[in-house]
Amino acid sequence: MNSAPDILRTYKLKSTSTREEVLSLLLENDHALSHADLEREMTTDCDRVTLYRTLKTFQEKGLIHKVLDDNGLTKYAPCTACTKENHKHEHVHFKCEICGNTVCLENVQIPVMKLPNGFVAEEKNILITGICNICNKK
Ligand SMILES: [Zn+2]
Ligand SMILES: [Zn+2]
Ligand SMILES: [Zn+2]
Repeated sequence: MNSAPDILRTYKLKSTSTREEVLSLLLENDHALSHADLEREMTTDCDRVTLYRTLKTFQEKGLIHKVLDDNGLTKYAPCTACTKENHKHEHVHFKCEICGNTVCLENVQIPVMKLPNGFVAEEKNILITGICNICNKK
């Protein structure tokens, strides 16, 4: 896996300590992180607005995507092969009711759904809740 500074360079984003740390945290964790999670885990000084802007920039450039949680909370997870132009997600997200983690199931595709006439899909989100494979082993 590429390091945060490498990825920033690839995506032609100026490297700042905030950008590097936010991206590193998202890459290191195997589950999606919310704004509050990031704020809690960050060691560099970063105000809410800067963090908000950083997440917005990353989303626009195709580095990360939104993961909608069941309680209406927005979390973020790194994209695997997105670009600014091709930033589409058709995979399912899974929220574990025991550990509370939400993960990307990259290999589980959202099935094709036929919408009624006149409806145009922009974004698809499927969140499955249950018990994750780690909690299931305990
Ligand atoms: Zn993406
Ligand atoms: Zn779990
Ligand atoms: Zn995802």
